[in-house]
Amino acid sequence: MRQHTIRRAVSVQGVGLHSGKVSRVSFAPASPDSGVVFRVKATGERIPATVESVVNSHYATTLGVNGTRVQTVEHLMAAAIGLGVDNLDIEVDGPEIPALDGSAKPFVTLLASAGRVQQSEQRKPLTVPCPLRVGSGGRWIQITPSDTFRISYTLDNEHPAIGTQVLSWTPTERSFVEEFAPARTYGFLKDLGIMRKNGLARGGSLDNAIVLGNGAALNGLRFRDEFVRHKILDLLGDLALLGRRIRAHVVARNGGHALNFELVVAVQRALGLERRSAGVVELGALAAEDAARREGLVRTPGLAVI
Ligand SMILES: [Zn+2]
Repeated sequence: MRQHTIRRAVSVQGVGLHSGKVSRVSFAPASPDSGVVFRVKATGERIPATVESVVNSHYATTLGVNGTRVQTVEHLMAAAIGLGVDNLDIEVDGPEIPALDGSAKPFVTLLASAGRVQQSEQRKPLTVPCPLRVGSGGRWIQITPSDTFRISYTLDNEHPAIGTQVLSWTPTERSFVEEFAPARTYGFLKDLGIMRKNGLARGGSLDNAIVLGNGAALNGLRFRDEFVRHKILDLLGDLALLGRRIRAHVVARNGGHALNFELVVAVQRALGLERRSAGVVELGALAAEDAARREGLVRTPGLAVI
């Protein structure tokens, strides 16, 4: 399968979910093997969408280079990989990718409207060398070698609108566009005050997130199991930071961006250590240390929502 980019430049503007600030994002075609690269207008800094660029995975995935940051890239990244767009130049005028409706659907619509072009180079899928597992207790992600890419997800939450949701998916472009891209992020009304105090969810509203009150969602659902669908969307977007499509079965239980990041770091390390690794490798703690050191903060346990 050949690599793809978009045919023509397109752009969109909106409010960031966490910063509450307006940003404009402009997409342009990019050359083969260049991958997805963010270019921040204010500083001119280029930030490749790779594992090495992750500076924070607390509630959202933030990329950064030399102090320049782009926050909340995951839904856009999911849209690109879900549509088969490998190479993309993204100029960001603002601190955060716009939330739009809280899902990947508006990015999918925009990128599809730009058209896609097949390029000269072949894709180089990544094969996971051995089973890997990150996390512990009721929160973990496991990845095992497989000929095809598959995500199986279990989400447990005591909130009555969520409960236990289980879904297993072999991605195709059509099922991505119709059944996963439209699944919106969600958050709990009771957490909103503390999140805003910590600089999170400042742009969050009923227009860009499912908001859960005491007993029910305050806005209507697009899917009965929209919550687990969104968790899968986030995982897909974070896995895209590997820069190549993976051939593996990813099994997750109550993950989040921090755990997704631990997984992609574990995959990278396993690829580097391929000949020395055997059996299930526990690399999650190391990856978490890396993230905390880079960010200079202590990770907070708990379900990473929004
Ligand atoms: Zn999300």
